[in-house]
Amino acid sequence: MAVSFPIPSYFTAIFIISRLMSIMGISKHLNNKLLPPLDNITDKLSLDPSAIESASQDFGHIVKSIPKAVLQPSSIADIASLINFSYNSSIPFTIAAKGHGHSVRGQAMANDGVIVDMTSMKKHRNGTGIWVSNDGVYADVGGEQLWIDVLNATLKHGAAPVSWTDYLYLTVGGTLSNGGISGQSFRYGPQISNVYEMDVITGKAEIVTCSPNKNSELFYAALGGLGQFGIITRARIPLEPAPKRVKWIRMLYNDFTAFTRDQELLISINGRHDSHALGYLEGSLLMDHGSPDNWRSSFFPPKHHPKITSSIINHRIIYCLEVVKHYDYQTQNTVDKELEQLLKGLSYMPGFMFEKDVLYAEFLNRVQRGELKARSQGLWDVPHPWLNLFIPKSQIQRFNDGVFKGIVLEGNITTGPVLVYPMNRKKWDDRMSAVIPDEEIFYTVGFLHSSGFDDREAFDDQNKEILKFCEEAGIGVKQYLPHFTSKDEWVHHFGSKWETFQQRKFQFDPKMILSPGQRIFNNN
Ligand code: FAD
Repeated sequence: MAVSFPIPSYFTAIFIISRLMSIMGISKHLNNKLLPPLDNITDKLSLDPSAIESASQDFGHIVKSIPKAVLQPSSIADIASLINFSYNSSIPFTIAAKGHGHSVRGQAMANDGVIVDMTSMKKHRNGTGIWVSNDGVYADVGGEQLWIDVLNATLKHGAAPVSWTDYLYLTVGGTLSNGGISGQSFRYGPQISNVYEMDVITGKAEIVTCSPNKNSELFYAALGGLGQFGIITRARIPLEPAPKRVKWIRMLYNDFTAFTRDQELLISINGRHDSHALGYLEGSLLMDHGSPDNWRSSFFPPKHHPKITSSIINHRIIYCLEVVKHYDYQTQNTVDKELEQLLKGLSYMPGFMFEKDVLYAEFLNRVQRGELKARSQGLWDVPHPWLNLFIPKSQIQRFNDGVFKGIVLEGNITTGPVLVYPMNRKKWDDRMSAVIPDEEIFYTVGFLHSSGFDDREAFDDQNKEILKFCEEAGIGVKQYLPHFTSKDEWVHHFGSKWETFQQRKFQFDPKMILSPGQRIFNNN
């Protein structure tokens, strides 16, 4: 844990300011202008080795970037003061908000800069980090809050957000800077499509409230903006009445064409208020180098493992379609009939449908059980050379042939969970910074590998091979949670959005202070 500076605080404060200024190479009188005061945050700036060490790492355990200091803010003003100080310095230093550090390639790091440890806002908000409106139609949520806490707080009001990530121990600011996708996205859009308003501190230290109608340029810039335009300190998230329970179903396929045809059929019913629509749809691969269950979720009853395993051995690759239908007291007598109707005529292998009936919250928090298990086996804090892609629908069959059945199946590595499921483009707003393929339906594919500390290279090689295949085959792939090492690659990634992205950077963070770990504008 980071140490904050005890008594005598005045002398400590002077020491920290001087030290920070000297390590950042800042002189106090610049352009005849005195730098803005930092005194209000000196006791929150930590140079403690343990704070620095923790800010140098992330869930990926691949990149290590060492910051000069860590800010543990207790207010929005603290964060604004830090940015203001950098902005007015002759040589501005970089600053990265660190949510829960669940990036895998150093995106929340700042080499030689300052990390804003957003979780410390949580401690200091005195329980006011999540506020549900009296009519229960929205929640005002601190950017540092974890989605699991948002779920628990809103459920007390019988309400909940509608769009989630698979794993809930991620921060609101962190997922809104990327997208926030899961099995609800086909119907409700990603989390970035489910925000009414935000407070953002820009790279010029301006504290701005933005929404589709007010300061909309910043609003759309920050959504999926990879932390480039400002630090999100509050988001207003729409809520709907929370379902009580879910019917949770997995169906297994040995035929990819049938699997994707059924997925696309099911996501074609996608009205937000269409009571016939599913609440969630995903898909994944089961392969002979894995067990039917993995750290991400255990589902299949043990007594069925032998038959599933033997089917995997026979076919080498099995596709698992996973759906959920929400229900509550009013619909508990009709939900089974509704589901039967929806799933009638699907082409999964006979005898390979499995069902569970669980509380809504238990379903949403399903990945945590896997986390606890992985932790107990020492398999959580290991390298995670993940690769997340968006693939246009027209190319998904070629991707299956070339990547799943080619590179992955023939590869020599033990694959972690591999997700594959479609989404509807119309649920995304093109004004947002997030980048997706051009087609109306596109798939997300996630290779969620865990490796040892010694054999990571094999996973990286496979990821490179997949990207090379996509490039050569003209698949038109876009990376989700993107990671690139050169500006050219970023320009290519953003495509027609690059000009706007760059202009917005000049507008909101002209000194290139924020989120340098993304390596978009701070690429040296
Ligand atoms: P960090 O990793 O700390 O930060 C991510 C980026 O956002 C950095 O650039 C950082 O500087 C910036 N940032 C952080 N906070 C703010 C803020 N308040 N304002 C502005 N910028 C900020 N993603 C999905 O979409 N769907 C999933 O189902 C999903 N499942 C996951 C499961 C696991 C086990 C893990 C480890 C990750 C998963 N992710 C998923 C990825 C996740 O969305 C990203 O890691 C994301 O970065 C959120 O993590 P974080 O809150 O720890 O952010």
